[in-house]
Amino acid sequence: MKTQADWANAAVMERYDFKTQRLYVNHALKEGGTVEADRSQANYLLNVLRLKEGANVLLFNGMDGEWLAKIQPSGRKACILKLVRRTRPQPAAYSLRYCFAPLKQARLDYMIQKAVEMGAGILQPVLTHHTQISKLNTERMRANALEAAEQCGILSIPKCEEPMKLALLLDHWDEGQTLIFADESADGKNPLQTLADLRGQSSLSILIGPEGGFSEEERAMLLKRPFVRAISLGPRILRADTAAVAALAAVQASCGDW
Ligand code: SAH
Repeated sequence: MKTQADWANAAVMERYDFKTQRLYVNHALKEGGTVEADRSQANYLLNVLRLKEGANVLLFNGMDGEWLAKIQPSGRKACILKLVRRTRPQPAAYSLRYCFAPLKQARLDYMIQKAVEMGAGILQPVLTHHTQISKLNTERMRANALEAAEQCGILSIPKCEEPMKLALLLDHWDEGQTLIFADESADGKNPLQTLADLRGQSSLSILIGPEGGFSEEERAMLLKRPFVRAISLGPRILRADTAAVAALAAVQASCGDW
């Protein structure tokens, strides 16, 4: 449910300036500070966006809020970013945990970006019987998460976890947290009532299966856990990346932060 801080944050987002380029920087951001753009950022600012001396950029590092900075080029390949003032305070990290069976690269990239845009704060890859890929490039996952955060005005950087087998995930699950399981074999019941009952829960998790779906054994393993709530995402089978957006929208709208 929305807190005062959420509403305030949302209000700021309404006036938010989406024109100015936002950059994630792995540096402390403080009054009067300067940040040296890395080579790819300098190239992007100076040669792709062709920004000139004194142009504005917005910087964030996931801890110190968002800061307005001015560009000070030094040649065509480097530039210093001079901090002017903090434009937004650092909000609390999102607690929504998005658990997913990794997909093939292009769909996986898409799914990670959408999960971040939709407010996932923890990205947890889950290895299931039908998962098509066995290892996942966590660095690439993090890069996709950062790119989505830069584009969408998000200030808290999602936590990118290492892949974990489904059985292990469930055995180590904090039973105080609800795991919303998108069950393609569920009856087509509208999920909104199940989700409405979860309003006010401090932290929620969602689980989306692989293109090949969950095995019967996995489904049984999930359904017998007291912290699992199975939901249907309608009468049609959705592709996993579609299911990701559908589930995140339903959850955020009915018991999340929309
Ligand atoms: N077995 C099917 C389903 C896979 S879809 C197949 O082989 O294509 C991938 C995942 O998206 C599912 O494991 C489930 O988590 C989710 N999903 C897709 N359609 C769904 C639906 N109608 N209801 C609930 N979850 C769904």
